[in-house]
Amino acid sequence: MDLPWLTPVIGDFSEQLKSQHIGHAYLVGVHNGYGGEILSLALAKAALCQLVTSQGACGFCKACQLVEANNHPDFYHIVADGNQIKVDQVRELCRKLTSTSQQGGRRVAVISNCEKLNQASANALLKTLEEPGNETLLLLQSDTPSRLMATISSRCQRIHFQAPTREEIKAWLSLVAGVKSDVTWCLPVMGGPLELAKALEGDRYAALLQLRKDWSQSLSSGHLCANLININEKQVSDALKVLYLLLRQKLVKQTELDALLRVRITEFSAKVMATYHRLLLMPNVNYLALFQSFILEYNEMGKK
Ligand SMILES: [Zn+2]
Repeated sequence: MDLPWLTPVIGDFSEQLKSQHIGHAYLVGVHNGYGGEILSLALAKAALCQLVTSQGACGFCKACQLVEANNHPDFYHIVADGNQIKVDQVRELCRKLTSTSQQGGRRVAVISNCEKLNQASANALLKTLEEPGNETLLLLQSDTPSRLMATISSRCQRIHFQAPTREEIKAWLSLVAGVKSDVTWCLPVMGGPLELAKALEGDRYAALLQLRKDWSQSLSSGHLCANLININEKQVSDALKVLYLLLRQKLVKQTELDALLRVRITEFSAKVMATYHRLLLMPNVNYLALFQSFILEYNEMGKK
């Protein structure tokens, strides 16, 4: 799948590689919904390529072929084991990075979703980030770079990334998914256009539209509608994000709302988002009671 917004990033990085102006550790703060991991792997491949071009890896040299066959001895890719990147994974990586390169070039490691480093694994990575050794390159991808530990992010250079505009995303979706209508309202729920394209392929997008209708109806009637009462547990996080979006849109569209009510809705939407993040860590919550309390709180707001 062609992701045109990644092309200039790969181009810039390849130019740096060609001019030998390359650092040891980079933070790729690009959400996977925008292709963060795809980008990190493309940068890694370019860094290993023996004949790197202005557009990235050549695709033909021995190094490129080894990477494509998933068989390059100096390339390492760490992905989270469940919800965390474990300390043993990082220790093993650091040990490998200190050994001699087998192909005589760089040793390159990609760590996907490095926001999943826990305290111990982050500490284990610090020394390598500080003294990475010669010809070593670390690429740390993160969906949520602003939430990364400062000890990690302060030791990395940034990969400059310009997110595509809504118009560019619309054009891309019409190309890859044949969608003509504007479906970009739910991008913040999705994390990015790749997830949105996937949602359009399956039934998740239709479910999001339904959730938006359900919340709209429930907020205005003051009663949780039947669909939200019978919601599938797997949909709870989507439901919270859609509610958050709906509240934010209310603030943008209804400019006549009085100032105090605006403040209350802003606080309320922040609470919904905080609940979403909390539920990621402890999923066993009575969401029905939670949803009902949200409807109640929203209705009380208007009465005060
Ligand atoms: Zn190559």
